[in-house]
Amino acid sequence: MRHFSHQKPNKCPKCGSPKVVNIIYGEPSYEASLEAEAGKIILGGCIIKGNDPYWACIDCKAKIFKRKFRTYP
Ligand SMILES: [Zn+2]
Repeated sequence: MRHFSHQKPNKCPKCGSPKVVNIIYGEPSYEASLEAEAGKIILGGCIIKGNDPYWACIDCKAKIFKRKFRTYP
């Protein structure tokens, strides 16, 4: 199941954990690598498919997608 949000959620929609972090795409900088090791962000890799999740839960690894206005039914 996919989770959607307009903005970065304060809690994981799946498990309720507050450890929801940004997913950073592309070649990570040194700082980004350190933050990823510290669990402050998640590295999403270099391949961007166009509908990739914006945030992820550190605890349960749930991915959260940004809801776009144009996807409204
Ligand atoms: Zn979670």
